[in-house]
Amino acid sequence: MRRRHVFRWPTARLLRLLIICAIVSLALVGGSIPLLKTLDNALMNWRFAAAPRNASGSIVYLAIDRETLDALGTWPWPRSIYADIIEKLSQGGVGDIFIDIDFSTPSTGSEDARLADALANAGASAILPVFNQHLSADAGSTTVVTQPLPALRENAWLAFANVSLDDDGTVRRFTLGDLLDGQPTQSAAAVLAKTHSASGSHLIDYSINPASVPTISLSRILHPDFEIAKLKNRSIVIGAYATELKDIFPVPVYGQLPGPILHVLAAESILQDRLLQEFDQRPVQLAFAAAVIAAALGMRAFQTTVPFLSAAAVLAIGETIAFMAQKDHALVVHTATSCTVLLLGLVLMFNEKVDFTQFLAELAGAEQRNIRRLLRKIVTDSTDAVLAFDHHLKIFEESDSAKFMLASGQSGNRGKLLAEVVSAPIYDLVVSLAAEHSKKPGVVRSSSSRFSISVDGAVKHLDATITISPVERPEEGTASRNVSFIGSLVIRDVTTRQIYEERLQYLSSFDALTGLMNRRTFAESLGTFDRPVHVAAVGLHRFSVLNAAMGRDTGDKLLQAVAERLLAHPSIASAGRLGGDVFAVAIPQSQEFFQKDCAELVLGVFDAPFQFEQRTMHIDARVGMYTAVDTCETDFWLERAEHALDDAKTIAGAGWQPYNPDVALRQHRSRELEQAMRDSFNTNEFFLLYQPQVALGTGLLNGAEALLRWKHPEFGLVSPATFIPVAEANGFICDLGRWALRHACIEASRWPDNLAVAVNVAPVQLIRADLVADVKNALAESGLPAARLHLEITESAFVEHTTAIQGALSDLRAMGVRIALDDFGTGYSSLSYLAGFPLDTLKIDQTFVKKMASDQQSSAIVQTIVSLAKGLGLSLVAEGIESRTEWQMLASLGCEDGQGYFFGKPLSPDDLLALTAELPWLRAA
Ligand code: C2E
Ligand code: MG
Ligand code: MG
Repeated sequence: MRRRHVFRWPTARLLRLLIICAIVSLALVGGSIPLLKTLDNALMNWRFAAAPRNASGSIVYLAIDRETLDALGTWPWPRSIYADIIEKLSQGGVGDIFIDIDFSTPSTGSEDARLADALANAGASAILPVFNQHLSADAGSTTVVTQPLPALRENAWLAFANVSLDDDGTVRRFTLGDLLDGQPTQSAAAVLAKTHSASGSHLIDYSINPASVPTISLSRILHPDFEIAKLKNRSIVIGAYATELKDIFPVPVYGQLPGPILHVLAAESILQDRLLQEFDQRPVQLAFAAAVIAAALGMRAFQTTVPFLSAAAVLAIGETIAFMAQKDHALVVHTATSCTVLLLGLVLMFNEKVDFTQFLAELAGAEQRNIRRLLRKIVTDSTDAVLAFDHHLKIFEESDSAKFMLASGQSGNRGKLLAEVVSAPIYDLVVSLAAEHSKKPGVVRSSSSRFSISVDGAVKHLDATITISPVERPEEGTASRNVSFIGSLVIRDVTTRQIYEERLQYLSSFDALTGLMNRRTFAESLGTFDRPVHVAAVGLHRFSVLNAAMGRDTGDKLLQAVAERLLAHPSIASAGRLGGDVFAVAIPQSQEFFQKDCAELVLGVFDAPFQFEQRTMHIDARVGMYTAVDTCETDFWLERAEHALDDAKTIAGAGWQPYNPDVALRQHRSRELEQAMRDSFNTNEFFLLYQPQVALGTGLLNGAEALLRWKHPEFGLVSPATFIPVAEANGFICDLGRWALRHACIEASRWPDNLAVAVNVAPVQLIRADLVADVKNALAESGLPAARLHLEITESAFVEHTTAIQGALSDLRAMGVRIALDDFGTGYSSLSYLAGFPLDTLKIDQTFVKKMASDQQSSAIVQTIVSLAKGLGLSLVAEGIESRTEWQMLASLGCEDGQGYFFGKPLSPDDLLALTAELPWLRAA
């Protein structure tokens, strides 16, 4: 068994020792730690800046600035200029003149001599700079002293003018002097300050504000008007100021200053008795450290604020003392080390007070407790019931929802055994998982199951998921660890989902409105019957009309009532709703039930009127029968019964039809054609041709018949004889006819005023469509006078709905539209309707015309028709005139008008228009 490494915090005592050691070491070496040094410098700078003071004014800086360089125009200057300056200053009675310029290299002899003379004659003492510098750039090369030319140094005082940078890259210190050729020689600052000392390094007092040093541009001195007397008795420093002369150094507090000013500030530090003193602070720091340690150890009994406030007070006092010492006594006190000692003292005190070890351990413990509390909260608040159990199958944790879901009351199940709480199947599952675990430990195992319980009389459906997770637990009394497990049982209430699923299941199999099986389920149920079985598709006649008239609610109730009746019938074995107003029933064949009997039985269901909501309603049905003997898919049985129903729908009134494969095929084709027609209608594949009609007496064009054409991209030119009957059967002719009417009227409005247009109207249009409105719209849109529109109807129109048709025709005639009876002689033999119907013209069918010349009987029929028309006061049009003979015969019989290939085949609109314009006479006799 692998032991886990446990991290242990160092003991409080060890920590105390470490901190004390750190404090003591710091007190001894803190001053040399770069970070603390930087901090000390920063504090010293802050004190300089906080208590500024002015320069004494006894040293004047004559600056070689930009203005001076511009005035003299050349650099380096001829030495005679320095000579002039020295002479002028001497005349003015100035004190010392320090020229901070390197004269170590010779210029011209005369110039050097001129400067040497000036130096010699100077009333005041001239000081020239010497520099300590390395011979070469190599590290460790020997140091040499750069001096002015011998002729110059003989006539002047020499002073060191070195400026050196401190560790932090700024100029902090200056020296009082150095050795020149073995002789102690003062620095420029020492000479200017007239001190006697020539050795030692000191801090420059940067509290002296460089801006307060009297500074004059050298160019002004050179000016003849300058009152040199102003400088009387003052020491003079001449040196570079202009940036391009590169005598600029970084300094604390002020950023950058020119080298000559640094000499002045250094001299001022001496003059003002501000040679800043530093001292070895270590003994004081050690004493302070001891005090801090003592205080920290002694303060463990205090509240935390006391040591913190004490430390802050000590800090403030310390800093104030250091500030006053530097400001008033030129004594520099470094406080960074002491501050750090104080800080460590606080850490020591804190360690004593709270025992860091314990504190950190407690921190870690609190985190663990927090995690445990969070996990517990997650479990408690879970909407799923969660039970956590140990290897004894004893519950040690549970969610609030578990109490409710398992109906265990507020006391809950903690401490109970799982067996007391969950149902047997779940418990068995847990036991079997636990057994698997003991056989092969160390693997996570999980299993799910759905079960139902009864709570307060209501059934609850629950999904349970059991997980067994291996854990290591210490074996009592030994150091080794045992592989055991903890388990969780998560129970989700899926009652709502289950109900929903059941509902979905129901809806996918049954019709929600009637409760009957839907198409799929009914088709499946057919498979359970012994063959032969009769399948009847039952369509409610005119249900959609009824639905629209009575409202959907009544329609729904009627459908429910039909379903009830079908189900209640003792001979109907099963019933379903195929959709809309179509039902289906199955009746097994028996001695008394052959196909016909079954059909009549189903039709008989509708004999009695339906009664609901104090309403009595009668509805007819049409039935399609298919008797299944084959082993086809039951879907096909249904389809065939539906084909038969389609067939039955073509007959008038209630009735039934058996399945007929030929009819089905026709229906299929016509359905295909119907779909193609509807598609073509939207893509403008229909067009009209116009066949000329002439006055037979004169051969003069007097109109044209509009004939519909359909050019399908795949089927080619489809004959109206093929598509018109299909369009009539499915009612599509109403749309098509309206379209033809509109276009024919628009076209005819372009023709001369004496020409009429004849438009064919299908019988359905008279019954279903509002033909009167369609005609009105077409005339209004085209502007065609009603008298120039002839409508051709066929005899079949008169078989049904006589009154409605009569009304429509009368309205049309009242508008001025002329009505022609097309294909006269081929339809129904009864002539009675001729008198009753409002007609203007008879169109003699082409079959008689064609045979007229050869066949006596046909000729006789034509003669009879002519006299019949005359008798009824109707005009006549003969169709199908193909020869001059036919024309002449018809003309001599007194037939007024005619059309046929002899006068012209159906023409495109443009061709007909051309004909009306160019050739009013057709086939003149
Ligand atoms: P219909 O109204 O009797 O039209 C006359 C038919 O006879 C047309 O055939 C025409 O092309 C054809 N015809 C005319 N003169 C001669 C001839 O000298 N010899 C021969 N052999 N035939 C001739 P089409 O265009 O094939 O039309 C057939 C039928 O389709 C029409 O008979 C009409 O009942 C129907 N139809 C055509 N267009 C429409 C329409 O727009 N609406 C309706 N409802 N039916 C239409
Ligand atoms: Mg016609
Ligand atoms: Mg005809």
